[in-house]
Amino acid sequence: MKPASSLANQLHQYKRLVEISRDLASTLDLDNLLARIAQIAVELSSSQAASILLYDEASRQLYFHTTTNMDEPVMRGITVPLEGSIAGWVLKNRETAVVNDVHHDPRFFDVVDKTTRFSTSSIIAIPLITKDSVLGVLEVLNKCSGDFTQEDESILGVLGAQASVAIQNTRLFQQSDLISELVHEIRTPLASVSTAAYLLKRPEISDQQRFNLASTIYNETQRLNELASTFLDLARLESGRTSFHPAPIDMAGLLEECRQLMLGRAEESRLTIRVDITSSLPLVDADRDKIKQVLLNLISNAIKYNLPGGMITIQASCAGPEMVISIRDTGIGVPEEAVGRLFERFYRARGVEKAVPGTGLGLSICKHIVESHRGHIEVESEVGHGSIFTVYLPLKQS
Ligand code: ADP
Repeated sequence: MKPASSLANQLHQYKRLVEISRDLASTLDLDNLLARIAQIAVELSSSQAASILLYDEASRQLYFHTTTNMDEPVMRGITVPLEGSIAGWVLKNRETAVVNDVHHDPRFFDVVDKTTRFSTSSIIAIPLITKDSVLGVLEVLNKCSGDFTQEDESILGVLGAQASVAIQNTRLFQQSDLISELVHEIRTPLASVSTAAYLLKRPEISDQQRFNLASTIYNETQRLNELASTFLDLARLESGRTSFHPAPIDMAGLLEECRQLMLGRAEESRLTIRVDITSSLPLVDADRDKIKQVLLNLISNAIKYNLPGGMITIQASCAGPEMVISIRDTGIGVPEEAVGRLFERFYRARGVEKAVPGTGLGLSICKHIVESHRGHIEVESEVGHGSIFTVYLPLKQS
């Protein structure tokens, strides 16, 4: 028979699980949801750390989405193969693994410990599966005292089942939300294409009108194309399917490279672009391609929303533990009531829709990328004077 204290403890754990199931059902943001599940797993099993790995069908790999013990940029770059890892075994067999001494288990994938300098000694890995899909694996590491018990296995099993349903619901919710916004956005260009094609068939229209209608169709289809690829980019980021590969980057070099790439477009609009860095900058640990995407997007906006003869100034400096990169333009600016909404999906300030081509998704993508690096992005703007977009990124820790 179990001692009374163990039974009381188990009862307490199950009570917590009931509370947790309510809590999980009310969270519809995937990042928050997974962070909550990992924390709860640590709490319920009295362990040191927990991670959630999600399965990417395209690459047939597991990648870290959430951990309680790693920095986000490091974690985002790590993938785990299906073969030769405990998580992979759990996923393929749809079975829990309890390993109290990982160094004697041939399935243990030690690359993660080497990259993170965390020392794993024991693991419980729970498959996250629903009736018809394999989502990933919940791993709980290093029981604080003694070995993982049967009780840990059963309580984490229940948590894993609740977590799977919650993850699936969140994904479905996000997809339906995103898709309805996309459908709304494509209605207008599709209506223009349809009207232009209908008018083109009329025999009485002039050559000039025919040319204008064909141009409308061309421009609108270009816009739809851009919308489709930008949308996919954002959807991948929002569902956590984008992997990041952080490495130390020389920001001054990257900013100059971005300036060179945008110079032609700036000159076409009679704009000057300047990079202004007064002191030497330390390295930042980040995914170079993704940060480049953010910078090019902000510079492209500074060109698109500028005024003829205007100026774009790119500055970078360090402030405490952060690198601060600002892109300042002397353009049209944004009305006060719109400033707080610029990072919303599909949001475009009033008046620019007709004048400047765009999708309203670029800044949402920038925000996602910057926040995935534990940074943040801000904007200040004044109508008729210009805007400053400022990106803050944590410096590489020595
Ligand atoms: P897009 O440029 O494709 O519309 P973004 O998400 O990059 O999408 O920007 C959203 C909106 O923010 C733009 O439509 C525009 O109204 C405003 N905006 C962005 N950058 C600037 C800028 N540098 N100056 C003025 N307005 C800007």
